[in-house]
Amino acid sequence: MNVSDAERVSAVLESIKYQKTENINDADLIVVTMCSVRQSAVDRVHGLVEKFKTIRKTNPKLRTILTGCVLKRDKKIFAEGFDYVVDIKDIKELPKLIQLKEMAGSGNYLDITPKYSSKFSANVPIMTGCNNFCSYCVVPYTREREISRPAVEIISEIKNLAKKGYKEIWLLGQNVNSYKDGDINFPKLLKMINKTLGNFWVRFTSSHPKDFNKEVINAMAEGKKITPYLNLPIQSGDDKVLKAMNRHYTVKDYKNKIKELRKKIPDICLSTDIIVGFPGETEKQFENTAKLFRDIKYDMAYINKYSTRAGTSAAKLKDNVSITEKKRREKVLTEILKQTALEKNKKYIGKKTIVLIDNKKDNILFGKDKYYKTVQVTSNKNLLGKFMKVKITDALAWSLKGKINEK
Ligand code: SAH
Ligand code: SF4
Repeated sequence: MNVSDAERVSAVLESIKYQKTENINDADLIVVTMCSVRQSAVDRVHGLVEKFKTIRKTNPKLRTILTGCVLKRDKKIFAEGFDYVVDIKDIKELPKLIQLKEMAGSGNYLDITPKYSSKFSANVPIMTGCNNFCSYCVVPYTREREISRPAVEIISEIKNLAKKGYKEIWLLGQNVNSYKDGDINFPKLLKMINKTLGNFWVRFTSSHPKDFNKEVINAMAEGKKITPYLNLPIQSGDDKVLKAMNRHYTVKDYKNKIKELRKKIPDICLSTDIIVGFPGETEKQFENTAKLFRDIKYDMAYINKYSTRAGTSAAKLKDNVSITEKKRREKVLTEILKQTALEKNKKYIGKKTIVLIDNKKDNILFGKDKYYKTVQVTSNKNLLGKFMKVKITDALAWSLKGKINEK
């Protein structure tokens, strides 16, 4: 979502003739699109404020703007370090703010046609905000309530991207499964997108297990463009912790959904998000998460150590799991994941797959296949942004190696 915000900020700035610089010391204007989900990201912004002080010594005309996902409390704190703190909803006002010509129109910032940072993969926000108030999370405070973007607007953006030859479309939202535009819900939206002309893959994030249902599974199974990859954050494998997190599902509910998903899409590649060391999480409760990891056998997981976010309801609880213990729990889960991911990756050896090449280092090319697996190949050609037929030759825990099928 932050990358997507930054792409809209870039578009607004380019419309008033600002050009991107690769060297921060040369900048006339620095716009920071912040993320507040973890304290570490907030700390990085404090670090940037210090850096601005150094840059200003040689570049006194520098102006700085903070936007993105910013807590009310932090807005006050950062008001000192930045020239302006702007709500992401108001970035259309940026030109006015920096005393240049006013941009045409006002209204929802998602209307802004972004300056896509990639020529083949695009982020398309379908909604903003969140109504869920998970007890640990700042998002409902920084991004406010859920607003879905009109489906016609989304389809028109995707049509344009497809015409330009984009190969991968990421649908973004804090909880895409609760998308709603009149009688168009998320599965219906997926079906509409699937019918759009063009040769592209569709991926989406994030999904909330409480709203992920059979209708979405069917839309995924039937939609040829919808890739067989799902990130379904469980956060904890213990019902008591899930309750304290205000997640509104049990481990059993979650497992049933995965069962249904695997029945309909047997080759689905699955990832999750976890928080270790939530206030009061006991060793036994953590063991339930470890057990869940062994049972589900994820392909990938984003494991986060709990950090208190001011203003959330969990901030009232004592952050009583030590950092050493959080690190240990993170390591235990990573070890299980390493084994299950490797076990699953080995099954791809000898198989053919299509890879969208997205990175290059000398003659080593990297890409993602439809399962969102990282695949490494060797070639002297510049194949960035191309779909390539690849035969998998080797498997590691976090990636696959393959050979390009030159035919
Ligand atoms: N809307 C998404 C999550 C957005 S935040 C969802 O519901 O899954 C991305 C991830 O950051 C979350 O899945 C969670 O694992 C992690 N996270 C959020 N708040 C956190 C906190 N206070 N401490 C540690 N991790 C946190
Ligand atoms: Fe945060 Fe929960 Fe909303 Fe995700 S669903 S953004 S974790 S409050």
